Amino acid sequence: MAQQAVIGVTGLGVMGRNLARNFARHGYAVAVHNRTPTKTKALMEEFGHEGDFIPAETPQEFVASLARPRKMVIMVQAGASTDAVIDEYAPLLEPGDILIDGGNAHFADTRRREQALRERGIHFVGVGISGGEQGALEGPSIMPGGSPEAYESLGPILEDIAAKVDGVPCCTYVGPDGAGHFVKMVHNGIEYADMQLIAEAYDLLRKASGMAPGEIAETFRTWNEGRLGSYLIEITADVLSHVDKATGKPFVDIVLDQAEQKGTGRWTVQAALDLGVPVTGIAEATFARSLSGHVDMRGAARGLAGPSGGGLGSSFADAVEQALYASKVVAYAQGFNEIQAGSAEYGWNIDLGAMATIWRGGCIIRAKFLDRIREAYETDPATPTLLTDARFAAEVGDAQDAWRDVAVTATRSGIPAPGFASSLAYYDGLRADRLPAALIQAQRDFFGAHTYRRTDREGVFHTQWELDDRPEARTDA
Ligand code: NAP
Repeated sequence: MAQQAVIGVTGLGVMGRNLARNFARHGYAVAVHNRTPTKTKALMEEFGHEGDFIPAETPQEFVASLARPRKMVIMVQAGASTDAVIDEYAPLLEPGDILIDGGNAHFADTRRREQALRERGIHFVGVGISGGEQGALEGPSIMPGGSPEAYESLGPILEDIAAKVDGVPCCTYVGPDGAGHFVKMVHNGIEYADMQLIAEAYDLLRKASGMAPGEIAETFRTWNEGRLGSYLIEITADVLSHVDKATGKPFVDIVLDQAEQKGTGRWTVQAALDLGVPVTGIAEATFARSLSGHVDMRGAARGLAGPSGGGLGSSFADAVEQALYASKVVAYAQGFNEIQAGSAEYGWNIDLGAMATIWRGGCIIRAKFLDRIREAYETDPATPTLLTDARFAAEVGDAQDAWRDVAVTATRSGIPAPGFASSLAYYDGLRADRLPAALIQAQRDFFGAHTYRRTDREGVFHTQWELDDRPEARTDA
């Protein structure tokens, strides 16, 4: 009888290929399969010598090569692709087999899939895997959810290939059905906040202290020796000291400052809203990425007034009135943008000016101010944001010095004013010429090969960070 694999991996993309190699490097005979066989062949040619791989061309061949109870990992995109692969494999499996989803699935999907497969006697294990491309190969952090029974046989293998700290594996049974993917989702939400905070720290040092990226890299290296010591701080220093070969400029300056996301930050915020948990930092980080990508709004807002350097000049009450007015304009601008986006997404063709008109009386937010919103949309129905309407721009421009003073006073006095502070950050985010979203994109490319776009050329790029000479390689993505 042909040799049987202890575990199998289908989906040999960035993550799957490295995970399979990790199993093989730990001495497990590993079955490998990919929808497009060229990836399986490439894996065998490049890394076949690393261990015991059993390549398969078809799902049937793949399943037949697995020792019972079968353990197979699916490493494909979350969502429809994962469902398609499960539908393809479930009929080939038997009760007691363990189907493992290592992708970034939404925990609610994992709960649904686990229940459906449980009814057929198949263990479905939703596993959160963190550590990106390199982690998958050298030892990721693994968050498995599913039945304790499945973990009994699967757990030791996962613990074996996981990262170890002080000899302790970075893998443990998390809980039933969607628990593993839930914890991975929140992990990613925290990652969003961590990256945003680092980006803000960089931006402050650059713009407020005038430090160059190379100098900031040194500061980050120093911080990495202390209580901030972490992977993200370490790679930020690497990113900031990296010079773009093509232009000789600091790499962070040639990266387009529009941060992308794959949705786990958004899911964390959505789940937190459902659970009633105030994850304000994670939400701000998620929205900061979203703001950075709104090219039209940012383009229109670029000329809006910035700080004049003047003092308060009037009573504190007057300053608070100005902060209140300016923050209120932001709230309405955001709300109308949401209606605009919903209207476009669902084909509702909503007349925004008419919405302002019908809110002028009767409803709770009725206000004189709504006439102005109606007028703004009459002047330009496609205005990207109310903040760039000439009248609002002038008024908020006049108010913004006082608004800043109020935010500073609130901060100094320890009085929480999240509405004023976050509205002001939104205003400044929109009018910023460059956002530190460029650093976030560079970090994402560094740890997840997520690619980036450049300020000076069209296309999608990936830097091979692990190589010493780090050539820029254009991807086909
Ligand atoms: P990837 O490089 O884009 O590879 C995707 C793989 O999925 C390819 O092998 C592709 O096969 C396969 N696939 C897609 N749709 C399929 C379908 N309908 N049927 C069969 N195979 C299909 O993706 P990745 O970066 O490895 O990510 C895989 C999963 O891991 C995702 O859920 C991702 O969110 C998660 N993840 C990624 C990272 C990261 O840092 N990249 C970190 C943690 C988790 P073909 O070659 O035939 O197209």
